[in-house]
Parts: sequence; structure tokens; C-alpha cells
Amino acid sequence: MAGNPTWVKWSFGEEDKLSLIKRVDNQIQVENFVGGQWKSGQGESIEVESPYFGDVVAVMKASTQADVDEAVGLAKQAQIGWEATPLKERTQVLFRFRENLLAHLDEMANTVSLESGKTLGESRAGILKGVEVLEFALSLQNLDQGGRMEVSRGVSCEYRRIPKGVVASLTPFNFPAMVPMWTIPIAIVLGNAYIWKPSEKTPITSKWIADLFTKAGLPAGILTVLQGGADTAQAVVGHSDVSTVSFVGSTSIAERVYQQGTAAGKRVLALGGAKNHIVLLPDADLDLCGKGISDSFTGCAGQRCMAASVVLAVGDSQVHIDRIVQRAKSLELGRDMGAIITKQQLQFLHESIEKAEAAGAKILLDGRQATPPADYKGGFWLGPTVLDQVLPESEAARIELFGPIISIIRCQTISEAMQIENSNAYGNACSVFTKTGALAERVIREAKAGMVGVNVGVPVPREPFSFGGIGLSKFGQGEITGEHSLPVWSDLKKVTIKWEAQSDANWMS
Ligand code: NAD
Repeated sequence: MAGNPTWVKWSFGEEDKLSLIKRVDNQIQVENFVGGQWKSGQGESIEVESPYFGDVVAVMKASTQADVDEAVGLAKQAQIGWEATPLKERTQVLFRFRENLLAHLDEMANTVSLESGKTLGESRAGILKGVEVLEFALSLQNLDQGGRMEVSRGVSCEYRRIPKGVVASLTPFNFPAMVPMWTIPIAIVLGNAYIWKPSEKTPITSKWIADLFTKAGLPAGILTVLQGGADTAQAVVGHSDVSTVSFVGSTSIAERVYQQGTAAGKRVLALGGAKNHIVLLPDADLDLCGKGISDSFTGCAGQRCMAASVVLAVGDSQVHIDRIVQRAKSLELGRDMGAIITKQQLQFLHESIEKAEAAGAKILLDGRQATPPADYKGGFWLGPTVLDQVLPESEAARIELFGPIISIIRCQTISEAMQIENSNAYGNACSVFTKTGALAERVIREAKAGMVGVNVGVPVPREPFSFGGIGLSKFGQGEITGEHSLPVWSDLKKVTIKWEAQSDANWMS
């Protein structure tokens, strides 16, 4: 069993403990975690750059088909014993993992920030959202009793929830701890062996999660980490012993993974990208909307699938827009807002702003002119950007930009706003800001989105309410968290039992 993770140490001074991201002195070697051992993959080398500093902070080798075959084989063997372990005993491992995780929250948040560009506060919040899912998984031992009934004299029927076996998960860069923790606790506590391929841009956090699970007593082979990019992901999805795949990432790859997996008879739940709309009505509370909307599009530097991307400003909402700009303008890079994941993505965002301007948008706030933080020279920085008078058919209004950019479309009526919202093929989130219940109810009813908010900029449901979109934001059945995730990671076995003939026999007795 591994001891405390000692592979990376942060020396915090008390005064800056919660505010500064620490550089690492040496590049971190990231490896695969296979059969309970850390070992390198055999594929090509991959470098991991920190968005904060722009330099290489970790190196690793991608996993080859042979690495995947070995890992899945060991997982398959280990799963047999894990499934035979009572749910209550499996749950104890998760309890200990939770304690370990909370004891290392700040160091782990630092790792998440270093590799993903989030602020420390955002990293901590993401990990704690993962803990919330973990707590839901812990509750299953008391909630999910299957169900048994005497259906006829001497005959009983019962449900038994059975795991899927070896399951896999492919995760994106933007939440290196939270998104994996949407699925790891639930899949594992239900008795599966779990193969995780983190994003090749943010693989370091996987070291924390695997080490802390090992320290909690998780048997070897139940959590496997395979590093790598698209080829490794394809090898995992294509492996015949992997029964179930969850994917979170961009829509084009989500759709491909869904098609590839289901064509091979696997169960697949694939969450894709987003273009989230906010319907801003003239009677909206100024404070609620100023903070709610600016936090939504600038939080995680706009790199989250729940970020507001388009404001549909109905009627005269100028005073609200002024407030949003005023608040966004006050945010300081490196303190209130994190960095952009790569140089290429930063370049793409710059080009998107140029294109929007060329298409007629008026720039109310230009993030390209924001001052990069002195503590994080070399990083990839863009300030909040507000584009006004954006046309519904322009790129800034239609495609997912994934950066701190909000496009305001002026609308005459709610009908026009809803028509624009509903013509977008994504369906992750939509929010309305208003003081009028009936208007809010109209948006709730008409919005084609899996998650809808009222006066909330980021309408993420809290557990036990499941997370997930519709349309191009989700492929497959079930949800990624909450009780509706149970059918993703398990099947129900229906058992009918009779021990002896009954004298008062009916057709079943
Ligand atoms: P991405 O699609 O580039 O990568 C996601 C994962 O897919 C990574 O692990 C990557 O290695 C893997 N991958 C790459 N090519 C592949 C291929 N050909 N086959 C199989 N797997 C492959 O996404 P990203 O840039 O890391 O993350 C940002 C995207 O994720 C955004 O679109 C965002 O909206 C989306 N996202 C969605 C949700 C949600 O809940 N809907 C949550 C977080 C992020």
C-alpha cells in the first residue's frame, strides 16, 4: 500500500497558502497505474505545459495497445473479487478515500491549478463537487437495497444490482479532479473495475487520486490509470473486455466515441460541448444578474461546459449590461481569473474576437488588453471580453469558444430570444434572469436544455440531482451523476425463488 503521496511537495508560506500557484522545481514524471503499480507507458513522449507559466511541468509516455491489453486483463481479474466483496465493505474504502482527499485538499488543488490554469479557489471547489458525488456513492449502501417481495405463496422476486465488469472513462482537461470523480466513486462502489484515461493536457492530478485510493485500501486493479491521447483512448474504447464507457469532452469526439462504442455493443454515455444561453429580461435584479452573469462567463476563464456564452438581452437591458461589464472589468488575472489551457487555444480565442469584430460586433470589454499577472509570466492569459450587438448567425453566437468571452444578442421579445436559444443544437444549460415568476416559468418550459436556471448563472444541480445536458451535449441514456447514473454502471438481475411446492398452488406457486 502506498504511503502519503510524496512525489510533489509544496512549501506554503502561511500568508500565500491559498493564493499563489507554486512552480515545480523538477518536471513531474507521470506514469500509468496498472495492477496497483506505477509504471511508464511504452508509447510516444508527451509534455504537459502549465497554463500559468507556459513551461513544461510534467512528462509522460502514452499507453500503447499492449499497455491497454495488460491493464484491462489485470482489471478483469481484480474485478471478480471486488464484485464478491459486500457493498458495505466496498463503501468503507470510499469513506477512507474521502478522509485522505480532504486532508490533502490544498496540495491537490495546487496540482489541479498548475496543470489546468484554474484559480486555487476554483480547483478546490471542483474537488469538493467531486466529494459531493463521492458522498452520494457512500449513501448507496443505505439507499439501494434492490427490493424483494413475496409475489405468490412460497415464491419471492427480488432485484440484485450487478456491476458491468470492466468499465472505462475518458475525461477532459478542464476539470482534472471533478469530472473523474463524477464517475469513479459510483462505478467503483457498485463493484466495477475502472479504467481511467485522463486528458493528456492534465494528467498529473490522476497521481493524487490513484495514490489516495490505494492508501484507502482499494485492491490493486480496481482503479487503473492509462495516460495518453486519442490513440490510447481509441484502444480503450475498442477493447472487447471493456463493457461500458463514459466520455466527457467536445461534441465531435463524444459523438465518435458513442458511435464506436455502441456499434461494438457497449453501453456508452458521452457528454459533449455546449453553447449556453442566458435570457436577460429588463426586470432582472441588477446585483443578481451583474454577479451571476459575469461570474458565469469568466469562471474557470470560461473553460467549463456550464459557462454562459450568449446573453439574449430582451428589450431595454442596457443598465444590466453596464453592470456586467463593470464587474467583469474589475476582475484581476491570476487572482480572480485563471489562465487559458494552451497557447493554441489562446490564439483561437484572439482570432474569434477578431472575427466577431469583423462580423459587426461591438467590443464593450477587450480581454486582449488585460494585464497579464506579474507572478505568472509566460502563461496563457486573456481577460474577460464582452461582445455586443452580435448577430445570431455569426460564429461568436453559434460555436463553442471555450474562453472568457460573452456574446450579447439584442432581442425585441422573449419569443425571439427563445427562438435563438432553441435553434442552437447544443442543449447543456440555459438560465433566465427576471423577477417575474411567470416569465421564468416560460423559459423553463421552452428552453431546449438539460439544465435550466432562474437567476443563477451556472445552473449546476447539486447531488443527488443528476448532471447532464441534452441534444449535442449528451449522447446515450442515463445521467453521469445521481441516481440516474446507476443504470449506466450496473444492471438489474431479476431473481425469482421457490424452495418447496405449496398446497394452495396457483399458476406460479
Ligand atoms: P476533448 O474532446 O479534446 O478531449 C476529451 C478526451 O477525449 C481527452 O481525454 C482526450 O484525450 C480524448 N480524445 C481525444 N481524441 C479522441 C478520439 N479520437 N477518440 C477518443 N477520445 C479522444 O475535450 P477537452 O478539450 O479536453 O475538453 C473541453 C471540452 O469538453 C469542451 O467542449 C467542453 O464543453 C467539454 N466538457 C463537457 C462537459 C459536460 O458535462 N458536458 C464537462 C466538461 C467539459
